[in-house]
Amino acid sequence: MPSNNYTTSAQPTAPDDWIHTVDLCRYYQRGHYEVRAVDRVTLSIARGEFLGVMGASGSGKSTLLNLLAGLDTPTSGHVEVDGQRLDSLSRRALSAYRARKVGMVFQSFNLIPQHTALRNVEMALYFGDTRPRDRRRRAAEVLERLGLGDRLEHRPSDLSGGEQQRVAIARALVKQPEIVFADEPTGNLDQENTDAIIGILRELNRTGLTVVVVTHDVEMATRIAGRTLRMHYGRIIDGQEPAADGTGNLRGHGGRVLRGDRRGEA
Ligand code: ADP
Ligand code: MG
Repeated sequence: MPSNNYTTSAQPTAPDDWIHTVDLCRYYQRGHYEVRAVDRVTLSIARGEFLGVMGASGSGKSTLLNLLAGLDTPTSGHVEVDGQRLDSLSRRALSAYRARKVGMVFQSFNLIPQHTALRNVEMALYFGDTRPRDRRRRAAEVLERLGLGDRLEHRPSDLSGGEQQRVAIARALVKQPEIVFADEPTGNLDQENTDAIIGILRELNRTGLTVVVVTHDVEMATRIAGRTLRMHYGRIIDGQEPAADGTGNLRGHGGRVLRGDRRGEA
């Protein structure tokens, strides 16, 4: 049989270069200071990777995730997905990237409090042309897969933190995204629920989903993730770099630079 390269255009020819950033920068002006939240980050994410992102509070992890997910616009530099720059996409194409390819999971779950678990998940399918009945069926299936089959009609306030995060993961998954960005998904959870969420993310990754997780969880960063980046002052630094205080923890800096201080730096 002839190989059929044409119907598989969703698969990139160079899997190592699926998502790629070039000199990505996101600066904020705050009074006389320039906050370099993300500073000249060049990185590649391969399909199927489980990528960890660590770093002190304020080091730019959330900003980086938002840029990769197309939720924020860089000050300079760019993000490429499948060889296409996000900043070259039409508004419609960018919305489609966010709505179809990307799933987001947050530390604070971000569920809509007055809606049931089922409705919260179903809403992720509103962007497309999925029929209401199919939306509900798909939402229920994903919730059941995550062990929440008996919680479909519960509102977030009637669910534990771990259950709420599983609903949020279901909301991300129901779109059948290609990549899930999770920003400290276990930050509000106890150890038991943390372990459960780590197990779910690991299983999803095993079945082919690309996962990028911002985490302070050492187990997730060292044992589960195939690769872990460390951020410091908006930069990606070598994970081996010791902390100034010798603890192995990178110290918290806001990435603040006095305006003009580093002017002219390459
Ligand atoms: P992390 O997720 O690693 O804690 P963030 O990406 O949230 O870090 O923030 C990185 C830096 O950018 C911080 O100094 C933060 O205060 C600053 N920052 C983030 N968002 C904004 C914003 N909307 N306006 C001004 N500064 C911001
Ligand atoms: Mg953050």
